[in-house]
Amino acid sequence: MPMAKKPAEKQQQETIQKPPHVGRTFMDVFDVYATYITDQKDRKMIENAYKFAEEKHRGVYRKSGEPYIEHPIEVCYIIAKLQAGPATIAAGFLHDVVEDSDATVEDIRKLFGDDVAFLVDSLTKIQRMKLSHRTEADFEAEDHRKIFLGMAKDVRVIIIKLADRLHNMRTLESLSPARQKALSEETLDVFVPIAHRLGIFTIQSELQDLSLKFLEPEKYKEILRLLDEREKNRNESLSAVKKRIADVIYEHNITFRMESRIKSIYSIYRKMYKKNYNFDEIYDVLAIRIITQSEMNCYEILGLIHAMYKPVPGRFKDYIAMPKPNLYQSLHTTIVAGDGNIYEIQIRTEEMDSIAETGVAAHWKYKEGAHYNPKEEQKDIEEKLHWFRDFINFSSEKEYDGEDAKDYMAALSNDIFNANVYVFTPMGKVIDLPQGSTVLDFAYRIHTKVGESAVGAVVNGSIVPLNTVLKTGDVCEIKTSKNSKGPNEGWLSIVKTAGAKSRIRKFLNEKNAEAFESSNIEKGKNAITEAFRARGYNDENEVMNLISQQKVLDEFHAASVDDLLKMIGARNPTPSSVIEFLNIRTKALPKTSTHYSSQDSKNPVLVEGGSNIAISLSKCCSPIPGDDIIGFITKGKGITVHRVNCPNIKGSSRVIPVRWNEDLGISSYPVDVEVYANDRPNLLADILQVMASKGLAVHDLHAHLTTETMNTVVSMKIFVSSAKILEDTFSMLLGIKGVYTCERIIH
Ligand code: MN
Repeated sequence: MPMAKKPAEKQQQETIQKPPHVGRTFMDVFDVYATYITDQKDRKMIENAYKFAEEKHRGVYRKSGEPYIEHPIEVCYIIAKLQAGPATIAAGFLHDVVEDSDATVEDIRKLFGDDVAFLVDSLTKIQRMKLSHRTEADFEAEDHRKIFLGMAKDVRVIIIKLADRLHNMRTLESLSPARQKALSEETLDVFVPIAHRLGIFTIQSELQDLSLKFLEPEKYKEILRLLDEREKNRNESLSAVKKRIADVIYEHNITFRMESRIKSIYSIYRKMYKKNYNFDEIYDVLAIRIITQSEMNCYEILGLIHAMYKPVPGRFKDYIAMPKPNLYQSLHTTIVAGDGNIYEIQIRTEEMDSIAETGVAAHWKYKEGAHYNPKEEQKDIEEKLHWFRDFINFSSEKEYDGEDAKDYMAALSNDIFNANVYVFTPMGKVIDLPQGSTVLDFAYRIHTKVGESAVGAVVNGSIVPLNTVLKTGDVCEIKTSKNSKGPNEGWLSIVKTAGAKSRIRKFLNEKNAEAFESSNIEKGKNAITEAFRARGYNDENEVMNLISQQKVLDEFHAASVDDLLKMIGARNPTPSSVIEFLNIRTKALPKTSTHYSSQDSKNPVLVEGGSNIAISLSKCCSPIPGDDIIGFITKGKGITVHRVNCPNIKGSSRVIPVRWNEDLGISSYPVDVEVYANDRPNLLADILQVMASKGLAVHDLHAHLTTETMNTVVSMKIFVSSAKILEDTFSMLLGIKGVYTCERIIH
């Protein structure tokens, strides 16, 4: 005898009807949870929570005119349908009392315990964030971030919040059109993605339809009309197909039941208005759902159906072998019926069906008798829904504080809510990424450190570069190396996820700040040793000892020697004011005993005693007026003038003091300089703009880009009249975005 049940039939159209039974009572909620909560203490606690809420809300009415308590009753009805535990239902009754009455979280703690108090406290905080704004328009990305953050702490908070929003959407009629639109938009932006990702399809779908009803009332009505108009035709064909399928399954002794379901209005709307389908082209408006007992049955039924009807190519999907990230499992196929009508068929087990309808809630369904531990439960959910941990990490990232909240919302919606490419680690863990993501995105999703040291990957057994785009089903193993140079600007164009982008940017900013800092210390050290050398102090250690004295640090408010050097590098204080403070006298060049030549007033440099000596400026270090200089005696060629710190004359005894001829009119001298910068568009133009503004001629300009680091070195010969002008030019160059060092070159 066949053991099969008679196929039960149910035409489910809940999503397009008005919500049934407005005005439920506590007993309606009780009837739902009493089916799975039997412990008398738990039941008593829920009842007390209801009584407390009823008392606190007594005399208060909603805008729609009903007593306020109807709202928490409806919210609890929704969460009890999802088989939530006693604490969640109690918190559902109490979710508005702290905000709307004189009750405090401490009162709740005393009466109902820590767990319920925690839930009510979280919900109250989320509510307060919203109330701090006068209008919905003030309600910005930052607040959404905080809501997510508040919800992410405990998935039960999300469930209550979703139920709260669902009932508010059901009763939206009583609000002004502006509020209706604003709340509907927020519902689509914030609550629908969460419901979707948690797999709570029933809530997601109703929230979408309700939002659409208020945002696009005309289109909403039009779709209802079209559905209605086609119903008669559809029903005839549908009954025939269902009967034929049921007969065949029945013959094979497989236990099953069958439902048919109309696609949600919102999803029809999306196909019609976002994807430009005609209503009659949307052939999966109606889905036939077959629910059976085992996975094996699912595949058997699929085989029977494919033997009977022609499947539409490319429409078969096996979400049993490959569940969606929200844990949805089912077989999908689309068939052409004998009369030419097309139907989508979904085949799954009872358990899969309950997950498909209530998602994560199906997993944390209240377990009678078992000790309920919310922390364990949360951990369990985080493990099952691998994106959930990303979501929490995301929401607590410091870098999204304040102004960056918009980035956070964009990142959340791009990286988490729109992730639909599923890639495996070698251990079989699924990482979900948005379309177009690369190996490098995958590496960053595993861990920031893995991203930063990634050099390539093995995808499906082949070695591939970091910019390889991943697709669903790829198995990806990241190759890291200690010798990796780490992120560079080029990586920003490789990654697709906002999370990876912001981490790379953070790394580059830190690296630049470090390079900038050490280059400033180096600059300060050069400047101070150079200034000392001009006064005859050639021993670097002696110089460092002199300036490291506490009195020097105190005088210039420096925290350390490095700090002082950094300040000197930025010319505040200047080397000469440090020297002045130390009261340093020039050692080797006592000015008093030197007599300088002044016979040739056209000569830029004057030399001690000499009148007919040929004087030239050295080409190696290109001294300019204002530099500390010294003469070098070349046999038969007269004197070449060098900067005192020029390594080419270091330690030479053939030197003679010289000084700049201050009476000489202005003329300019060539200097070779190098400008170091992080490359970016228009960098050269900005550098040349500085030269133009200072009236400096530029010759022999070269720019060299190191692609690995995206560093550019711009070298050029410029013509300046004094060291002071060169210094000013350097500080203007350092003010250009990306420029971190300017140097004079000694050949
Ligand atoms: Mn509420």
